[in-house]
Amino acid sequence: MQEIEKFNADRFELVINAAGMGVWDWNIKTETVFFSERMAEIIGYCLDELQPISFATWFKYIHPEDLQKANERLASHLQGDAELYEVAVRMKHKHGEYVWVLIAGKTIEWHEDGSPKRMLGFHREITLRKIDEQKLITTSYLLDESQRIAKVGGWQLDVLSGELFWTTETYRIHETTAEEFNPTVDAVFEYFIPESRVLIEKALDNAINRGIGYDLELTTYTTKGKLIDVRATCIVTMKDNKAVRLTGIFQDISEEKSIQRTLKNSNRALEQVNIKLERNANYDALTGLPNRNLLADRMQQTIEHSKRSENSVAIAFIDLDRFKEINDAYGHSFGDELLCSIANQFTKLMRSCDTLARFGGDEFVMILDELEHPDDCIVILKRILDSISKTVLLKNKAIQVSASIGVTIYPQDNSNSDQLLRHADQAMYIAKNTGKNCFHIFDVAKDVAEKNQHEELENIRLALNNNEFDLFYQPKINIKTNNVIGVEALIRWRHPERGILPPIMFLPIIEQDILDIKVGEWVIEKALTQLSLWSEKNINIPISVNISPLQLQSLDFVKRLKVILKKFPHFRAGSIEFEILETSALKEINQVTKVIQECHQLGIVFSIDDFGTGYSSLSYLKRLPTEYLKIDQSFIRDMLMDADDKAIVIGIIGLAKAFSRKIIAEGVETTDHGEQLLILGCHLAQGYGIARPMPADDFILWLEAWEKENDWEYLCDVGVKKE
Ligand code: C2E
Ligand code: MG
Ligand code: MG
Repeated sequence: MQEIEKFNADRFELVINAAGMGVWDWNIKTETVFFSERMAEIIGYCLDELQPISFATWFKYIHPEDLQKANERLASHLQGDAELYEVAVRMKHKHGEYVWVLIAGKTIEWHEDGSPKRMLGFHREITLRKIDEQKLITTSYLLDESQRIAKVGGWQLDVLSGELFWTTETYRIHETTAEEFNPTVDAVFEYFIPESRVLIEKALDNAINRGIGYDLELTTYTTKGKLIDVRATCIVTMKDNKAVRLTGIFQDISEEKSIQRTLKNSNRALEQVNIKLERNANYDALTGLPNRNLLADRMQQTIEHSKRSENSVAIAFIDLDRFKEINDAYGHSFGDELLCSIANQFTKLMRSCDTLARFGGDEFVMILDELEHPDDCIVILKRILDSISKTVLLKNKAIQVSASIGVTIYPQDNSNSDQLLRHADQAMYIAKNTGKNCFHIFDVAKDVAEKNQHEELENIRLALNNNEFDLFYQPKINIKTNNVIGVEALIRWRHPERGILPPIMFLPIIEQDILDIKVGEWVIEKALTQLSLWSEKNINIPISVNISPLQLQSLDFVKRLKVILKKFPHFRAGSIEFEILETSALKEINQVTKVIQECHQLGIVFSIDDFGTGYSSLSYLKRLPTEYLKIDQSFIRDMLMDADDKAIVIGIIGLAKAFSRKIIAEGVETTDHGEQLLILGCHLAQGYGIARPMPADDFILWLEAWEKENDWEYLCDVGVKKE
C-alpha cells in the first residue's frame, strides 16, 4: 500500500515537472510554506537566492499593475466568494523582463470556524500563450476595425441548428448590438422591404436546398428604422451533399447606391437635354418636321436603300406660290400657322416610307422612296398640288395657296444628295416660270448636254488662249485667165491630242457664245497679220474671212474692227473680204446693210457665202450692197448630173449679172466642173479641183508652182494632196 502511494507520488511529481509547474503548500495560520524549486526557476532564480521566503515573497515580483488584481482574487477566495484562486499576472524575471505566470490555488483545509487553514497551488509560466492571445486580440480588433471602415459585416448560419452568427459590423450596419438583438433568419427577414424579401428568401432557399451561393443587392430597414442598401453574399459549405454552413458578407452600400442613383438621375437629365438639343439640331421648330440637317441624312439613307432595292427615289422641292403676299397681308404669325397646316396636309398624303422636311421659309422637300417606276411619283405630286390648292379656313379667313414643285429622280439622275437637291430646285424654278401650281421633272439628258457644252466651251476658250488655232488658205482663181484672185481663210484647231480639227467640230459649240466673237476677231487679226507677212514677200493676194452671224450682228462690230485695223497701219483697201452667210445677213438686214456700208469705207469687200441656200428675195438682195455672190457648193457639185441644180446655178449667175455682182463658184472639184462654169459664164472658182485649204507656208509653195506651171491638171494633183 505504501509502495503504491510512493509510486503515485513519484508519478505525480513527474507530471508536475513535465507541465513546468512550480507548486506551493501554504499553512495560512502558521505561515509555514513549502515551495518547489520550479517556483523560483520560473522567474529565473533558485530557491536559495530567495531565502528567507514567505508567501508574500512572490507578491514582490508581481507587476504593480497586476498586484491589486492578484490580491483581490486571493481575498475573494479566502473569503469563500470564489471557489478557486486563479489569476494571470506578470512577474519580474531575474533578467529584468516580465513573464506571464498563471497563479492558481485552492483551500484544502479549514479551521473549525470555517476559516481557511491550508492552501495548495501552483505557478505556471504562460508567456507564450499570452503572446498568442494578444495576437488574436489584435487580429480580431483589426478585423473588426476594417469591417467597420469598409462597412462590411460577416455572417454565418449553421444550417442544422439554425444558429445565426453576426460580426460586430453586421450588428452596427443594423444599428444594434449583440446585447440588444438576437439575430435569427426569420427576425432578419422581417426588416427587408417586400421586393428584397422575396429575393433573399428565394436565394436562401436555393443555398440551403441546392447549395447555390448568391450575391444580391437588397434594401432593408435597420432595427432603428433607417432604410439602407446592402449587398448580401453567401457561399455554401457542403457536407455529404448537404449544405451545413452558409457564410457571407453583409455590406452597407447605401452611399454607392445613392451616388449611382444621383448619377442615374443626372444621366437621365443629360439624356433629356441631349434629346432636346438633337431635336433643335435636326427638326424645324415651327412645324416639327425634319430640317435641312436631317434631310441630308435621310437623303443619304434613302439613296443607299435605293441602291439595294433597285427602286427609284423622287426628290420633290416644293415652293409655295405667293406665300410672301399672304405673309405681308395677314402677318407672320398667320403665315406660320398656314405653314403648319400645309405641313400637316402634306404629311397626310405621304406613305410611311416617305420623308417630308422643311427646307426653309415656304420651301419643303419631300423624299418619295420605293418607287417601282419613276412615273409612280406623278400620282403623289398631283395629289399634293390638288390638296394644297383647296381653300382652307384659317382664323376665319378663307385662304387658297398653290405650290410649284421641282422633281428629280434617282438613280436616273445619278447625282449625290446635294446635286439632287439642286436639280430639284432648278426644276422648281422652271415650274414657277411655266405658270406656277404645277410640277416639273428635271431633264437629266438636257442637263448632261448643257454640262458637256459648258466643258467644251471651256476647252475652246483654253485653246484660243494657248494659241492652238490656225488658218488654212484655199485659193480662188479666175479659171479663164488662171490668175489667183484671192484665198479663203478657213480656221483649223491644232488639237494637242486629236490632231487637226475642221471648223464643224468646234464652231457650232460656240456659235451662241461670246467666245464666237472672240474667235472671229482672232481670225481677222490672224488674216491681217498674214497679209503683212505675204506683203513683205511681195505676195499681195486678198484674203477672205468668214464672219459668223453672231459677230456680224454684234452692235459694236465695226467699232471693234477699227481697233484691230489700227494695229495694221499698212493695211490696203480691198485686201480683206468678208464672207457673210445669206441667212445671217437677212435676219437684221438694216443693221447688216449699215455694217457693210461702214466696212466699205474701211476698204473691205463683201461676199454672200453659200448663196442659194437662204431663200433671199430679190428685194433683199438688192438692198445688200455686197460685191460677190458665192454659189453654194451643193449646186456646183451636183450641176453636172442634176438639171435642177444646173438651172439654179444658171439662175444665180443671171441674178448676179442683173444686180451687177461678181459671181464665184465654190466646190469646184473637177475640170469638168470648171469647164461647165466657163460655159455658163462664171469665171471665178474655188474648190478641191484647184487646191485644198493649206497652211500659209504651203500656200507660198503652191503659188510658186501655180505661177510657174499654170497647168490646171498638174495643179489639181498638187492641190488634192495638200489637206
Ligand atoms: P465655207 O465658208 O463655205 O467654206 C468652204 C468650205 O468648203 C470649207 O470647209 C472648205 O474646205 C470646203 N471646200 C472647199 N472646196 C471644196 C470642194 O471642192 N469640195 C468640198 N466637199 N468641200 C470644199 P471648211 O474649211 O471645213 O469650213 C466649213 C465652214 O466653216 C465654212 O464654209 C465656213 O462657213 C466655216 N468657217 C471656216 N472657217 C471659218 C472662220 O474662220 N470663221 C467662221 N465664222 N466660219 C468659218
Ligand atoms: Mg466661206
Ligand atoms: Mg461656203
